[in-house]
Amino acid sequence: MPSELYIDGQWVKPVKGGSSDVINPATEEVIQTIASACAEDVDIAVKAARRAFDQDGWPKLSGAQRAKYLRSIAEGIRARQTEIARLEVLDNGKPFPEADWDVADAAGCFDFYARLAEQLDNNPEEVVELSDARFSCKAIREPLGVAGAIIPWNFPLLMAAWKVAPALAAGCTVVLKPAELTSLTALELAAIAHEVGLPAGVLNILTGSGTIAGQAIIDHKDVDKLAFTGSGPIGSKIMAAAARDIKRISLELGGKSPFVVFEDADIDDAVEWIMFGIFWNQGQVCSATSRVLVHERIYEPLMKRLVEETNKIKIGDGREQGVLLGPLVSKRQYEQVFAAIEAARAAGATVACGGERPEGFDKGYYLQPTILTDVPLESAAWTEEIFGPVVCVRPFETEEEAIELANDSRFGLAAAVMSKDDARAERVAAAFRAGIVWINCSQPTFTEAPWGGYKESGIGRELGRWGLDNYLETKQVTRFSGKDPWGWYLKPTGEEKSASARPSNS
Ligand code: NAD
Repeated sequence: MPSELYIDGQWVKPVKGGSSDVINPATEEVIQTIASACAEDVDIAVKAARRAFDQDGWPKLSGAQRAKYLRSIAEGIRARQTEIARLEVLDNGKPFPEADWDVADAAGCFDFYARLAEQLDNNPEEVVELSDARFSCKAIREPLGVAGAIIPWNFPLLMAAWKVAPALAAGCTVVLKPAELTSLTALELAAIAHEVGLPAGVLNILTGSGTIAGQAIIDHKDVDKLAFTGSGPIGSKIMAAAARDIKRISLELGGKSPFVVFEDADIDDAVEWIMFGIFWNQGQVCSATSRVLVHERIYEPLMKRLVEETNKIKIGDGREQGVLLGPLVSKRQYEQVFAAIEAARAAGATVACGGERPEGFDKGYYLQPTILTDVPLESAAWTEEIFGPVVCVRPFETEEEAIELANDSRFGLAAAVMSKDDARAERVAAAFRAGIVWINCSQPTFTEAPWGGYKESGIGRELGRWGLDNYLETKQVTRFSGKDPWGWYLKPTGEEKSASARPSNS
């Protein structure tokens, strides 16, 4: 397994020789030691990325040429899909089928952006109609430079793909820092990029802490764009750092997403999607629908089924067959989620099920899937992201009340609604103040569709064509094709400045 820094097409040791241990959250055992980059390593990586962008011609390649590399990376991931998924399980704790799904999605993301890179060749420029016939204008999209990408630990390889694939497709070069807790599959990505012959400096992957390596990336003057997925407080720091040099930014942050279930919904269908919306990936999902609003007419029977099914979830090491809930990613995360449940209890919430460490687990960061009811609206359990397998469920009476409760949040990442009445579902979907809305489901995510949040859930959109736009600048090229020049200073002798000399819309 690679464990060094991947800079300028080579595996190198960190300048100051830093390292950190990788812990398997299911066993609490150290499974690997990896390099920890310092600011000097980041500087070397940014210089390599700069050179690959400014001198070595990566942005000058055609989209089709770049697409070939992207497709080779996708093939490289698929060729080792099981091995990489197993590594993700060891590193992150998620059940193997989820990891396997993520790895397949990551490969699909590289294929998708390969197609978009090719499309850039087909539409290199757009004609802009001007109001003055003496001029013609075209708008050209160009890669914006060196991208610094910083990602979280919940979907390690997939989050890397969401940033690296569109950036490379656009013609940018990249310095990527994975989360310190889950760096192993990003290093595999570096190994694959190396094997497929990606030119040196185009993709640099540095493991290390947020406070040292991450901070050095966001502060670096030669980074043109920061692409970040993670928590709100770090998102604020990134915005502040970007403000100094007017770096471009895209931020994918947290959420506290609502799921509104109306009285005409099929109860079993609702239970399935509610569970998928909060227990998948141990609830460590930015878009998790962690606030569920159920119409009062079906609240009791739905809660009964939800508790029954939640209690059946098989908890265990993600490598075991049939496990649907693995450990949380780290001791810190485990303690934070427990503390959030305790705080909810203290605030008056009822624990309808879960809330404890499951029996029979001496090691590992395991927590029972947890359902909270009677959660006060002003309590942290209702308003703040818990980022664990903990859902708050609450009854509502009217559509207006449900919409008001759903939108009463400083976040606006996702929202879901379930109803057999299409008109009502569409009406509620339109009323949600969120960037991602699901009707009759929760969480399905497609590479083709825009992903990102309203309000404090972020800025910009990843995925789809919107994801490519994150890495492109727009240049206008205006040509004067008139017979006589402007005539402002060098006007024909004896004539006054003619009105037609003025730019028509100034
Ligand atoms: P985090 O913000 O603590 O860390 C994210 C990344 O930022 C890590 O790589 C970390 O090393 C780095 N970092 C930390 N301090 C930094 C600094 N000073 N400068 C630069 N980089 C720094 O978040 P996390 O705990 O890894 O992830 C959980 C959070 O991410 C949750 O809030 C979740 O909602 C959010 N998230 C959002 C999305 C989305 O698409 N909106 C997806 C996944 C996770």
